[in-house]
Order: sequence, then C-alpha cells, then structure tokens
Amino acid sequence: MKKRNITIKAVLAVTACTACVAVNAQKQYPQQEPMTPGMSEYWTPQPKIVTPGDIKTNSAPSDAIVLFDGKDLSAWENTKGEPAQWTVHDGVFTVNKKAGDIQTKQKFNNYQLHIEWCVPENITGTNQARGNSGVFMQGMYEIQILDCYNNETYVNGQTGSVYKQTPPLANAMRKPGEWNVYDIIYTAPVFKEDGTYRVPPRVTVIQNGIVLQNNTTILGTTEYIGFPKIVKHGAGPIILQSHGDPSEPISFRNIWLREL
Ligand code: MG
Repeated sequence: MKKRNITIKAVLAVTACTACVAVNAQKQYPQQEPMTPGMSEYWTPQPKIVTPGDIKTNSAPSDAIVLFDGKDLSAWENTKGEPAQWTVHDGVFTVNKKAGDIQTKQKFNNYQLHIEWCVPENITGTNQARGNSGVFMQGMYEIQILDCYNNETYVNGQTGSVYKQTPPLANAMRKPGEWNVYDIIYTAPVFKEDGTYRVPPRVTVIQNGIVLQNNTTILGTTEYIGFPKIVKHGAGPIILQSHGDPSEPISFRNIWLREL
C-alpha cells in the first residue's frame, strides 16, 4: 500500500511539471533580431584621402611633411639650433663629419618616416667603420645605418638594428653606390609619473621592401657603452648621425614623414 502511494505522488508531480512547461511555452519573450550584413558595417568617419607619391618621380604623399626634397636643408639644424652645415648637391645631401649631427627643426611623436641613403661606391673600411650613420627616433633611439654589404659586424649593431638592442630580421643591403630605402613606423612611448615606461616605444623598419624590425619594443636609449636607459621625454626631432668613422661620408635624399 505504501509503495502505491509513492507511485501516485510521482505521477502527480510529473503532471504538474508538464503543465509548467506548457505555460512557459506560451509566454512570449523578446526575440533577437536576425543578423543582417549591414549590422556589422559602419560608414563614418571616412578615412582622409591621401594622394600617394608619384612612383616615377618618387614624390611624397600629399599629406607628408617634406623634410628634404633635394633643394636645401631648411627643415634641419645642428644640435645647437644653428643652420645645418651638411653639403647639398645634385638633389642629395652628404654628411659633413666636421659639422656634427643634424636634426629636424620640428619635433614629432608617432609617424611614418621615409628616408633614402647611399654609401659611396668607393667606400672603404670594415665593421662599424664603413658608412656608419644612423637615424634617431625622437632624438633618443637609433636605427643603425651602416654599409653591411659584405661587411660583418656585431649583429645588434648592423644595418637596421635598434642599435645595441635588437638585430634586424634580415640583411637587405644594396651594393655601395646604390640607394637604400628605409620606411620606418614609430610609436612614441607613454610614461608613468615616475618616469618609467607605461607603454614603451615601438618601431617597424622596412629596408628596400624587406622587414627588418617588426613592431619591435625599444628598451630604452641606444647607448654605445652600457645598457638602455629609460629617460622621460616628449616629442622629439629626427636626428641624423655624423659618425666619426674615417670612411667616406654617406648621402641622403627624399626624406618625408607622415604624422600618425
Ligand atoms: Mg650609427
């Protein structure tokens, strides 16, 4: 008899539960709209229109800040703020080793930089003493320029290295006498109150169409002696290095920058 009561209770419970489901099935909840292609597309703001440089004349894009167009060094000065004394000739300019480094008058944060450089066909010297120069991001961080065509040196000091930090991913040198092209994308650091990096600087370097640095983290200043230092700074110039090596001086042309 007891067993039979339990069975009846179970049947009633199942019946009640079935009724509950029936009620819920009748209740109307909001339904999610079916996705359409347009739901994941947006149209504004439209990217600004930039006219690319002419591939034949190698001109700068329409929104670039032209830092050297073959005529003069009016965008440049020496590190004391005096007129740049490097030599302009034949649409290029050549390092004047007696005159020291030059820098842009304008200061920058994030940018895309295009710069072309050439070591003389008759270049002499070995290791770091062969067409040594460099381009400094925000005046602090050197991307090495050196003739590494059949010229070995320490790898974190070769062409396209973040100097004394990160070697390039490849050696993409053209022969002496031929022009090399650097396209550099640089992201400035963000600092904490205490002067250390909240977000370190980063750099991508492409030489002659070949990636040498792929969004590389810059660890600090690029020291010749010692390890990187973290020095708080703001916007800074592009600096071109006048290196004291005894080899024949290198030349530059077609320099422009797009702020990002
Ligand atoms: Mg150098």
